[in-house]
Amino acid sequence: MIDVAVLGAGLGGLAAARDLARAGADVLVLEARERPGGRVEAARVDGGRVVQAGGEVFGHEHWAYRELVEELGLTIEPSYVADPGEMSWGLVEGVFVGNEPPWMSERERADAKRVEREFAQLAASVDPDDPWSHPDADRLDNTSIGGWLRDLGALPAVRRRHELASLSLSCDSPERTSLLGELRKHATSAGESFYDLAVWENLRVAEGSAAVALRMADELGPRLRMKAVVRSIDVSAGEVRVALEDGDVVSAEAVVCAIPAAPLRDIKITGLSDARLQSLRAQRQALAAKVVVAYETSFWQEAGQNGLAETEWLFGST
Ligand SMILES: Cc1cc2nc3c(=O)[nH]c(=O)nc-3n(C[C@H](O)[C@H](O)[C@H](O)COP(=O)(O)OP(=O)(O)OC[C@H]3O[C@@H](n4cnc5c(N)ncnc54)[C@H](O)[C@@H]3O)c2cc1C
Repeated sequence: MIDVAVLGAGLGGLAAARDLARAGADVLVLEARERPGGRVEAARVDGGRVVQAGGEVFGHEHWAYRELVEELGLTIEPSYVADPGEMSWGLVEGVFVGNEPPWMSERERADAKRVEREFAQLAASVDPDDPWSHPDADRLDNTSIGGWLRDLGALPAVRRRHELASLSLSCDSPERTSLLGELRKHATSAGESFYDLAVWENLRVAEGSAAVALRMADELGPRLRMKAVVRSIDVSAGEVRVALEDGDVVSAEAVVCAIPAAPLRDIKITGLSDARLQSLRAQRQALAAKVVVAYETSFWQEAGQNGLAETEWLFGST
């Protein structure tokens, strides 16, 4: 029996396994695919240039990730946020260039500022390390961002800004996003707006995020098993049995499950309380797709645009 079975070799599973292995635990990572990295992936285009096919940007406040990248000897560089120029908007009314939401009047922009101030004030009352200690935590968690905006009398143009921002982040709608969750996120950062790009998206790994996964996978060596599709997890006192598609069973003292909510639904789990399983099964996961197009020159910069576009059509953000 090994000490810990880690399920899934995305950034989460690999980082957990790396920490455990460094602390001396006998670890085995079980990954369904033939490559590590999960939702971070690199692809090569003509000329050998590496492009990022999955997760890419992060922010200064993601200190654990920053430290990990540095420990692995990789390079942190500014992301697109540092590029000069204005952003673009693809709206049902047409295409617009400019940093301010083009559909908003002066009055609506002032209302957006008012709502932002209210939000920042409320966020200041939430402890990011312990959001449930807030005296009103249950109510805040049962209130959606959309509901809160309506309670505040936010103008429809302001609510549209939130809908568009959610689309561009591949998040769930503001109508299904917990106010407490968003307040906590805000409380962790010094950002100025609801989602300050300069705080959350201003950095990237020069070698690509996939390099973070590959370096951790290299460190783990034979402790990473590919093409190991988990089918069931049976938890009992002192032993966890993980059954694989190929019929093999891995027995461990503990398990770290780093398989996301959606694929986890296909895995039979026994030995956990009904409440815990119910909570697990209730988690939603957004479906996101990324299309990468490589141009020879950044032609949008010549037109005074920074390359960022938020759209209400097929693509949320470009
Ligand atoms: C297109 C796209 C763009 C993104 N952009 C950003 C961004 O810019 N910045 C940012 O911070 N985040 C971004 N994200 C999110 C970020 O990539 C993810 O949150 C992060 O990579 C998730 O890591 P994870 O380890 O939790 O899960 P995953 O990377 O999903 O890893 C889970 C692993 O479990 C494996 N697995 C699944 N089922 C089984 C099974 N039955 N048995 C064994 N293994 C299994 C999978 O193959 C996978 O390797 C983006 C995501 C996508 C899809």
